[in-house]
Amino acid sequence: MDPSTLFTLALGLTPPWEVWNIRFSPEKRRLDISIGFPLGSLFTCPVCGSKGAKAYDTTEKSWRHLNFFQHEAWLTARVPRVECDQGCGVKKIEVPWSRPGSGFTLLFEALIMVLVREMPVAQVAHLLGVHDTRLWRIIRHHVAAARKRLDLSNVGRVGMDETASRRGHHYISLFCDMDKSQLLFAQGKR
Ligand SMILES: [Zn+2]
Repeated sequence: MDPSTLFTLALGLTPPWEVWNIRFSPEKRRLDISIGFPLGSLFTCPVCGSKGAKAYDTTEKSWRHLNFFQHEAWLTARVPRVECDQGCGVKKIEVPWSRPGSGFTLLFEALIMVLVREMPVAQVAHLLGVHDTRLWRIIRHHVAAARKRLDLSNVGRVGMDETASRRGHHYISLFCDMDKSQLLFAQGKR
């Protein structure tokens, strides 16, 4: 199996997406994976779901992916706008490895969410070489999405506590479901 096929499988890419090229630069400490699709590929129309949408034009985009050992890994792809055969017009499509508008792959975001549960965001930012404001944007998105899924209809007793963080001068208010010992909401203030 050639490396491109291997990486296509490893990234979980589904047709028409495939890995076209892999460049590894030890000097730049960087792994670049370029993803493409064969000419004439058909995409699913984001409006009507028809499988007969053809690429109309493309824009090159890059996403930061999980580190490859100590090397930064990046995916690059020319993402098409597609023209549907059912007359829906020219529409942007979403790529399966990332959220719309995110500069990170879903796997990289998952890694961030695991790390920030265990260590301060500033430390994760340093570890991954990403500015912490970008990490906070991702954390807020996923926390808001998780909160939306939270069903509070059966909460009977709520407990509130205020605690100082280790360095002091920074207080966190915690609201908990007393019956399930589950955190419902936390708010920090200086
Ligand atoms: Zn359509």
